[in-house]
Amino acid sequence: LPESVDVLIIGAGAAGLMCAATAGQRGRSVLVLDHANKVGKKILMSGGGRCNFTNLYTAPENFYSENPHFCKSALARYTQWDFIALVEKHGIPYHEKTLGQLFCDNKSKDIVDLLLAECRAAKAQICTRCSIQSIEALQKGYLVDTSLGRVACESLVIATGGLSIPTMGATGFGYDVARQFGLNIIPTRAALVPFTQHKRQLERQQELPGSALAVTASCGEGSFNEQMLFTHRGLSGPAVLQISSHWREGQAVEFDLAPGYDLAEWLQQRYAEKPDSHLHNVLAEIWSKKLVQHFLRRHGVDSRPLKQYGASELAAIGNRLQTWQLVPAGTEGYRTAEVTLGGVDTDCISSRTMECKTQPGLYFIGEVLDVTGWLGGYNFQWAWASGHAAGEVA
Ligand code: FAD
Repeated sequence: LPESVDVLIIGAGAAGLMCAATAGQRGRSVLVLDHANKVGKKILMSGGGRCNFTNLYTAPENFYSENPHFCKSALARYTQWDFIALVEKHGIPYHEKTLGQLFCDNKSKDIVDLLLAECRAAKAQICTRCSIQSIEALQKGYLVDTSLGRVACESLVIATGGLSIPTMGATGFGYDVARQFGLNIIPTRAALVPFTQHKRQLERQQELPGSALAVTASCGEGSFNEQMLFTHRGLSGPAVLQISSHWREGQAVEFDLAPGYDLAEWLQQRYAEKPDSHLHNVLAEIWSKKLVQHFLRRHGVDSRPLKQYGASELAAIGNRLQTWQLVPAGTEGYRTAEVTLGGVDTDCISSRTMECKTQPGLYFIGEVLDVTGWLGGYNFQWAWASGHAAGEVA
């Protein structure tokens, strides 16, 4: 390792590599250290292997934080369009999947290669398999002891991410550094994570794992209209991952199982049009046969020709089938969560530069901060934007 550098970045993930490239392009000498055996592991596994690298509609409203204004400055100064331009500069093919979510056509590795190429061009040095032993603040700058030697730096950037997926190298290192320098931590929680259900509930829906349907999932102030998936352990799919960021232990989540329909009214209409049709066949216009059978059984409803129900009975069936209230047993936790809610309190950090207000030369970027995006490419956009903001000044 060099004895000293201008900018030392701990964490070679999305935010750290973006920061390294940006600072290096300004002519700063940059070193990035990571304890993992390779860089950008979460990028590689992201988006089902195709990295949902940004979202066309990124806006501050797509982020959770104790201070919802904090993310505005960085997001405005490095936008989704800036990252898209970088992706295009590197000739990486991509497409919009849904809801503004941009994915690589090929592999997530394209994004890691882009970041490494930018770092190389900026002469930023990267060193993996390096663990950090201690950090000491000097009169000017920092002294960092590592398993590969001691490095002095003017600016120290913490980009070690959140707690999700410990098997991928996630640690609470960033929070420890924050505590060492007296910064506050907003309590952390696994988010964008599947729900688990009680054994009793799972037994009742044994035939459903693998079945998916469009729902509106609501809890507290959150409401998301996306797909839900039944699994062997509970519920997953984008609607569930999104609403998990709003959920607290013991709360009920409400699912509208037929968003866009008023089932009570719709069944009346169907009755007028096709009175001889069986209820289960009519409902199969909305749900798969398996789901129809399950929902009817759950509510103890026999399937008969529509004309055999009274109007009010049909409306009552529609109302019962429309919504499902569930108190999940819990979540899958950090083991499978995509992100960590909470983190380094943004009150301690400059929203323009990501520098710590009380500790000159110390920066926090990416997921380690108390800024968490929705599902859909927003978390990477925060990593790019916050990494760029710090890289411009460190
Ligand atoms: P990270 O990318 O996690 O990088 C942190 C780095 O720090 C790692 O390289 C790690 O090895 C290193 N590190 C940690 N502790 C130490 C230590 N003690 N010493 C040295 N180094 C350390 N977001 C999206 O926007 N789109 C997606 O498609 C998407 N898919 C995801 C899929 C999965 C399965 C997961 C888990 C997350 C996904 N995310 C996605 C979220 C996204 O990956 C993160 O929000 C983003 O990577 C955060 O960037 P970061 O640079 O802050 O942290």
